[in-house]
Amino acid sequence: MQPEYDAIIVGGGAAGLSAALMLGRSRRRVVVVDSGLPRNRAAAHLHGYLGSDGIEPAELLARGRREVTGCGVKLLDGRVTDIDGTVGAFTAALEDGAALTGRRVVIATGLIDVLPDVPGLVELWGQRVFHCPYCHGWELRDRSLAVLALDPWAGHGAVMLTPLSADLTLFGDISLAPHDERAFAARGGRIVRQQITAIEPSPAGGVLVRLVDGSVHERDGVFVTPRPLPNDQLLRALGCAVTSSSVYQGFDFVEAGPTGETSVPGVYAVGNSVDISAQLIQAAAAGAKAGQHIATDLLHDEIEALFLASGSDAS
Ligand SMILES: Cc1cc2nc3c(=O)[nH]c(=O)nc-3n(C[C@H](O)[C@H](O)[C@H](O)COP(=O)(O)OP(=O)(O)OC[C@H]3O[C@@H](n4cnc5c(N)ncnc54)[C@H](O)[C@@H]3O)c2cc1C
Repeated sequence: MQPEYDAIIVGGGAAGLSAALMLGRSRRRVVVVDSGLPRNRAAAHLHGYLGSDGIEPAELLARGRREVTGCGVKLLDGRVTDIDGTVGAFTAALEDGAALTGRRVVIATGLIDVLPDVPGLVELWGQRVFHCPYCHGWELRDRSLAVLALDPWAGHGAVMLTPLSADLTLFGDISLAPHDERAFAARGGRIVRQQITAIEPSPAGGVLVRLVDGSVHERDGVFVTPRPLPNDQLLRALGCAVTSSSVYQGFDFVEAGPTGETSVPGVYAVGNSVDISAQLIQAAAAGAKAGQHIATDLLHDEIEALFLASGSDAS
């Protein structure tokens, strides 16, 4: 039996919706299943997305959803729990018991930011506590900023903030890479080697950083380095090849090529599920590229089948 869809897209963030847009515009039968938890949902505004800088994260997705449904893509709220099958005939199982069949699968499930265990951090995440200088650094330029050093990577993040503000203090008692520590100090950053006990909002709209010695430091904004945990369980269960990261020690990622192809034929992966450094515009670009590639691939299959049926040579 013919699968119901040409492509099943799991995840309706910037990556998944962009793949859907390309496939929908190619008149493909596409379904996007989304569990409604985009990574940047805690932020009030998004930045660095050309043409949409400063809009609300939900607004970008609302626009994307309108655009894809405008070219026939079906959107389903839900969570895919399992995918089975091979190229041309995949079945995706949803949490509510429904099953979808499709010729290709795109995994665009994003990642989870595992925040350091500091009381008060979760409550301020995305509002006064950020992780990315490109996303929120400009808005906090020339302000007093804290970097919470709870992970060795914090040193690199701290150095990246030095062009944005001269008033930078790194709090924490963990060792940083010597080069990062020297670079941060050389760029004028201060280091306070004390364990952080809690953070809380300050009445002035900033953040109070509480240290183990009882001191309290008020800052306009805080940066931390969460541990990125890609939502790649479906890809791993499908048997997609994994590789160790050369940049992020101790991490391994599902491998995806330039058009999102994994080692499993017919399975594509885009955005933060396979690329933890992708911002919105890069996740969208990866999705769009995969969408175009899949559209071409499906057409190629259909032409081959026509040639085969007519007995003519496909080459
Ligand atoms: C606080 C914060 C602020 C940020 N601000 C910016 C910014 O200003 N500019 C910028 O460029 N980037 C920003 N980012 C990064 C941005 O969020 C990511 O680059 C972007 O979300 C990646 O897009 P994606 O489509 O890969 O994943 P997501 O946007 O996370 O979308 C993945 C979607 O898949 C769904 N999903 C997951 N598993 C399943 C499943 N099994 N079944 C169905 N659906 C599933 C999720 O619910 C989610 O809706 C920010 C990140 C954070 C944490």
